[in-house]
Amino acid sequence: MTAFAQRTAADLNEAYGDLPPGELLKLLFTWYPASQTSFANSFGLEDIVIQHLLLSFPEQAESFVLDTGRLPEETYELIERWRLRFGLRPRIFSPRADLLDEFLSENGPNAFYQSQILRKSCCGIRKLEPLTRALAGKTAWISGLRREQSSARASLEVFAYDEDQRLKLSPLANWNLDQVWTYVREHNLPYNRLHDQGYPSIGCAPCTRAVSAGEDLRSGRWWWETDLQRECGLHTPRSERTEHATPQR
Ligand code: SF4
Repeated sequence: MTAFAQRTAADLNEAYGDLPPGELLKLLFTWYPASQTSFANSFGLEDIVIQHLLLSFPEQAESFVLDTGRLPEETYELIERWRLRFGLRPRIFSPRADLLDEFLSENGPNAFYQSQILRKSCCGIRKLEPLTRALAGKTAWISGLRREQSSARASLEVFAYDEDQRLKLSPLANWNLDQVWTYVREHNLPYNRLHDQGYPSIGCAPCTRAVSAGEDLRSGRWWWETDLQRECGLHTPRSERTEHATPQR
């Protein structure tokens, strides 16, 4: 890591936080070799914008997908469409079979509906543990988070350091949904067809539903829960997570 990149997140946001997404990515790759960076690509609308921007760099951050095993068929189709059109081959991280087998045996296949603790345990096994493996050895990562997506993300900054002191860049933090759609349409990018069916945010199939006009963009995620902080933990400090990455007994 260069001394440049060791500046505080507040300094980086002050100095560079208003740069356009492509410039932010360029800056990141001047601080860190692309081989030390990763892009968490869920193939959501924001992520396909970032993925498209990354394709313009000669050396790219490694894109990875957390394949929970419960993604909608439309998301798998989209991954395939990017593979065919752009030759994109993201690394796929699946849940550890031993953890999943034990959790499913104990709690059943749809335990997430039973309690928030079980839901977060499922996210822990299917998302958080694979994320730890995906980021191992990386010094920076890129996310498609936007401030406007939910009240829980309202204070999102373009630059942040995660708890492992990796620099986390959210190049679209300042963008609104119109800007995202404009980019997708101008570049005719393949996108998840669920977006045309009322799904602004798409996660696992059993935990995502369509939302109505005017609803919070993430209100279709874990819709049965009353807690408005509807996050899976991928972007939540460990101290604020209540999930368990091991099966509940
Ligand atoms: Fe499990 Fe639902 Fe979390 Fe996916 S979103 S990991 S199915 S609880």
